[in-house]
Amino acid sequence: MARLVIVSNRVSLPGERISRAGGLAVGLREALRKHGGVWFGWSGVVSEEPPAAPKIVEAGKTVFATVDLTRKDHDEYYSGYANSSLWPLFHYRVGLIEFRRAAFEGYQRVNAMMARMLKPLLNPDDLVWVHDYHLIPFAAELRKLGVANRVGFFLHTPFPPAQVLVALPAHEALMEAMCSFDLVGFQTANDVRAFSDYIVHDANGRFLADGTFTAFGRTARAAAFPIGIDADQFTTLAREAANANETTRLKSSLVGRDLIIGVDRLDYSKGLPNRFEAFERMLERWPEHRAKVTFLQIAPPSRSDVAQYRALRRQLESAAGRINGKYAEFDWQPIRYLNKSFARGQLAGFLRIGRVGLITPLRDGMNLVAKEYVAAQNPENPGVLVLSRFAGAARELDTALIVNPYDIEDIAEALHHALVMPLVERIERWRAMDRVVRRNTISTWREGFIATLSALPAAA
Ligand code: UDP
Repeated sequence: MARLVIVSNRVSLPGERISRAGGLAVGLREALRKHGGVWFGWSGVVSEEPPAAPKIVEAGKTVFATVDLTRKDHDEYYSGYANSSLWPLFHYRVGLIEFRRAAFEGYQRVNAMMARMLKPLLNPDDLVWVHDYHLIPFAAELRKLGVANRVGFFLHTPFPPAQVLVALPAHEALMEAMCSFDLVGFQTANDVRAFSDYIVHDANGRFLADGTFTAFGRTARAAAFPIGIDADQFTTLAREAANANETTRLKSSLVGRDLIIGVDRLDYSKGLPNRFEAFERMLERWPEHRAKVTFLQIAPPSRSDVAQYRALRRQLESAAGRINGKYAEFDWQPIRYLNKSFARGQLAGFLRIGRVGLITPLRDGMNLVAKEYVAAQNPENPGVLVLSRFAGAARELDTALIVNPYDIEDIAEALHHALVMPLVERIERWRAMDRVVRRNTISTWREGFIATLSALPAAA
């Protein structure tokens, strides 16, 4: 078995509390423990001086190699191009794109620097697996240095339709770089279709039914690998948390009311303003739910150095305040809006007692919280998942109440439907989702990608 080299923007170091590291980090660490290998990326530290070599930490069969970024690199590569150009673009939000040529150059410069830093750590038969939109030029940079290893890429976000993608200045350069990977993995068949459309119609390439494509003078493979969670582990976490202090406190604070729960990074892709409005609309149209239900929205702030994220935070504070002001009683607050993060164990306990999981992104690559909500449920009395049709997870979790997140009435109706749904129907819908979540786990995702990459011929 070849050694695995994982490259991602952030590296989850062995000292970091695993409970906060997220399912993906856990899944990748597990892969490295099994296969042995290297995890390479940014340390998360911004320093005065550019790095001379990666910092190395060894733990078991895994080598963690990290580099610091200078302030300029961080601002241009991370906050600038990755999070102000690519993130909105990949979530179909052309109007939110900020493009600065200097940021694009910074993005390319950091990718080139990272490739140079990684090269001395590589063995000739290592499998290199690069993650996410921060690192699209990474394989092209490795190729320039003469690296011939198999290099795969997985995009955790959606991939936009070709007509959206071409709004990005210099999209050709980005896409040419993307074609330097040997395998390009997406979350859903929809993303693969958008990619193939670009290859055929905008890059004058060819795309075959098995996912083999030729463009920019290279031949490679594209396929969908929908990411999953460690469902058994999450169920155990949820079951154990059921009697933990925090879960008990949350439960008793509800005094018998139903809990609607949402958990999302504070991000404009998550559709939070619409969700708040839909909850308000539900209280307006079905007054019988007033004082009978509490909506808990957990929304840890992210990327607060980007202006749009700060604006969203102000918008939500004002919406929550307004709705609470309008409907609250002296002994009931409709919305509990929390700008902080919780450890996975606590979250699992909270999700378990959620009578409704309310997940309504305007666009999301997968949305792991949707799968976690399913895994956390009590099989004898499961809650109802209300899920946006524009989350990658909706393809698999099709017995959720699927909503259009732009349609406030649609979400409000689904909320009402969820709150009055009889137990038999809840169990039936939940069982179908639970089967999917347990069949397609983080391990099947990881092993599927690695097996496909291993089976490809090495780069010429
Ligand atoms: N998460 C967490 N604590 C929090 C909020 C979220 O551990 O307070 C985890 C959550 O359990 C999930 C991940 O962060 O595993 C979020 O993944 P998702 O795909 O839903 O959204 P993303 O943030 O990647 O856009």
